[in-house]
Amino acid sequence: MNEDMMTAEERSGAVSTAVDGAAAQTALRHGRGKGIYYVHTLGCQMNVHDSERIAGVLEADGYVKADQEQIDNNDVDLIVMNTCAVRENASNRMYGTLGQWAELKREHPQLQIAVGGCMAQKDRQRITQRAPWVDAVFGTKNIGSLTGLLDKARMYNTSQVEVAADLEYFPSQLPAARVSRISSWVAISVGCNNTCTFCIVPSVRGRERDRRPGDILDEIQRCVDSGAKEVTLLGQNVNSYGYSMGDRYAFSRLLRACGDIKGLERVRFTSPHPAAFTDDVIAAMAETPNVMHQLHMPLQSGSDRILRAMRRSYRTSKFMGIVDRVREAMPDAQITTDIIVGFPGETEEDFQQTLDILGRARFAGAYTFEYSPRPGTPAALMEQIPADVMRERYTRLHDMQESITLEEMGKFVGRDVEVLISGTGRKDSSTHRVTGRERTGTLVHIGVPEGEQMPQVGDFVTCTVTGSARHYIISDPDVRSGHTYSVRR
Ligand code: SF4
Repeated sequence: MNEDMMTAEERSGAVSTAVDGAAAQTALRHGRGKGIYYVHTLGCQMNVHDSERIAGVLEADGYVKADQEQIDNNDVDLIVMNTCAVRENASNRMYGTLGQWAELKREHPQLQIAVGGCMAQKDRQRITQRAPWVDAVFGTKNIGSLTGLLDKARMYNTSQVEVAADLEYFPSQLPAARVSRISSWVAISVGCNNTCTFCIVPSVRGRERDRRPGDILDEIQRCVDSGAKEVTLLGQNVNSYGYSMGDRYAFSRLLRACGDIKGLERVRFTSPHPAAFTDDVIAAMAETPNVMHQLHMPLQSGSDRILRAMRRSYRTSKFMGIVDRVREAMPDAQITTDIIVGFPGETEEDFQQTLDILGRARFAGAYTFEYSPRPGTPAALMEQIPADVMRERYTRLHDMQESITLEEMGKFVGRDVEVLISGTGRKDSSTHRVTGRERTGTLVHIGVPEGEQMPQVGDFVTCTVTGSARHYIISDPDVRSGHTYSVRR
């Protein structure tokens, strides 16, 4: 029998013979597979998706995912920390948490601890020197090696480290235990070729590596075959996809190819880089029915002087040109962005230019950040803005964007939207409310009218919007007065 044909128990039993550890044997005896695992994820969507891969690799090897009660009671055999190097004090936070887990390990000596993600990539051997109770350190390109490292750590009772500089195989070829059945993330590239002065990504994730289109489309098809209605294509700069293969139009071609996948209802992507944004992508978005009219495109600053200091290779006129052409081709498009306030050297005049763009672009939403220096990046060595100035600017920017978002949400009222249902929570079932996202990505809470069909997760509901708030819209349709409410399976 090959491993693919085994049950999880058989597989875990087969593996256990190779694991000469009392803890694994004990776990197996208690029906815990090879061990109960918990993945603690920090950071961006790329990390969230990598954690799905980590879970998939562990489950294929016989580990069993911890339930909430087991997590709350620390009743786990393996904790994996998937770290982020982007957040402020990432290093202190990581070692702080590892210190707390050392205590856990003293109480449960069979517990294994593994550290992956960007901090593992960055700190490598240093982690096991500072935290010798860590069993395994694996880089962003070594997810597939995790179970082998844990086995070896158990066998030889020493920490194992594997951090590759180069990608041997694309992480998406590893199994994934996906968090959502109906919405899947599919990575199309990893790494980044840009050198933004505030960003640590290029040094920890390496240069951009694109995945072959056939592999991407195969994975999307597998997601759809297992029930996904929606996929989000993921990459640090999705629209520079294909440049390494000498094809500048590969991303728009990929979007159009997604349009041919039967049963795939919605395609989204994140994030495009304004510098590499070409009009063929706008045309593909507008002309491919299952590609949603949603665009999250990081602006970072409305000042060309600051964009130059950030080493962002577009200028605000290019950014606004894209916004205008997207709106012309897709008047219903929802555009969101990222903005950094208080980048080193930002003057009040630079900041005013960011506010001007906010007023002109009328983003549906913006993720706004106060600049904080990341060790190892050029901007960390530049002269910093005083904290009180940064805070005051942040508040002004945030307040302005919040009122724009509220106005933009209000424009939905009276319109019919199609919602992919993602939740029918406990509270929802008592109030007859269900939750999902409409086509452009806005969160919708729907009150199911008395006597109408209750939708399930994965169904589509078309309904009239009756109210709006800052970060969601509400549909409480009154069918007798002409509002729409219908369910599609
Ligand atoms: S484009 Fe800039 S901000 Fe984005 S990952 Fe690359 S270097 Fe970082």
